[in-house]
Amino acid sequence: MKKALVCGAGGFIGSHMVKRLKEEGFWVRGVDLKYPEFGDTHADDFVIGDLREQQVCRAIVDRRFDEVYQFAADMGGAGFVFTGEHDADIMHNSGLINLNILDCCHKRNIKRVFYSSSACIYPEYNQLDPDNPNCAEDSAYPASPDSDYGWEKLFSERLYLAYHRNHGMEVRIARYHNIFGPEGSWCDGREKAPAAMCRKVAETADNGEIEMWGDGKQTRSFLYIDECIEGTLRLTRSDWTGPVNIGSDEMVTINQLAETAMEIAGKKLTIKHIPGPLGVRGRNSDNSLIEKQLGWRPSYSLKKGMDITYRWVEEQVKMASSKI
Ligand code: NAD
Repeated sequence: MKKALVCGAGGFIGSHMVKRLKEEGFWVRGVDLKYPEFGDTHADDFVIGDLREQQVCRAIVDRRFDEVYQFAADMGGAGFVFTGEHDADIMHNSGLINLNILDCCHKRNIKRVFYSSSACIYPEYNQLDPDNPNCAEDSAYPASPDSDYGWEKLFSERLYLAYHRNHGMEVRIARYHNIFGPEGSWCDGREKAPAAMCRKVAETADNGEIEMWGDGKQTRSFLYIDECIEGTLRLTRSDWTGPVNIGSDEMVTINQLAETAMEIAGKKLTIKHIPGPLGVRGRNSDNSLIEKQLGWRPSYSLKKGMDITYRWVEEQVKMASSKI
């Protein structure tokens, strides 16, 4: 039986990955500071542990896993990573996790390790025009990410690539672009734009008003979780290291994202634009490289993913209000 280790298995992407690996017949160990929030874990073995601790990492990496997925990070949406208030934690905590886990994998002679980097590594100077952002993989340097979250991701990419060059490890690196879907943060201060919009729309009566950070003209693309998992597995099992974008290239403004949620909910709401943390002006996934190297690209429309996500968030909102 093949064995996989999922770091960050209590989080959004990690818990979905555990489910998928179990469906494929793997024996799975998950590790996280916490259990998944929205349901039982599917892992065969779930360790509550702090990956900043070297001894914890050594104990967890106690065998030669066939595949290791490293999702653990101190992270969140714009309200968490772009305020500047969490920079020291983000860099220290996520940096330590990557340094520890990768070295333990090397010492156990584990070859295949996936690392979840981010579109936040791309230079701010290429993302000033909301209609024409450049996020081709080879545009990462000269580096100028707009957040310390992005700088830590870039450092860790280089760390994984160095272990590949110096120790022959088969590392695989993806740069995720805004992954969303059910069972992700929706109201704890770490939620991203799709879940936040779904929550605001679900909580507001028809003809009411919702607030949005900025003028809503900033652009992004959003990738549904199932496609993120599919792309990640294809990359990990390929013979190609990356780094590669895993994202949708259906670019929309944040106003359009909100309108999609309203359309799904069948509500007409007014948007009140307020100041708030924003990130770059424009961003979109460039999928030329993944298509060339893996012969695959995501295909879900934003509407299809938002439909499923809205229903899930709406249910959470109803459950939360029934508890009050
Ligand atoms: P998440 O916050 O839901 O999951 C991360 C998990 O890591 C959390 O459950 C957290 O408890 C765990 N963790 C944090 N510190 C830990 C520690 N010291 N020891 C053990 N576990 C620890 O985030 P996610 O959305 O599932 O993202 C997974 C990965 O993908 C992250 O590395 C993130 O930076 C990257 N990524 C995500 C997105 C996205 O849109 N979701 C975009 C780009 C990159």
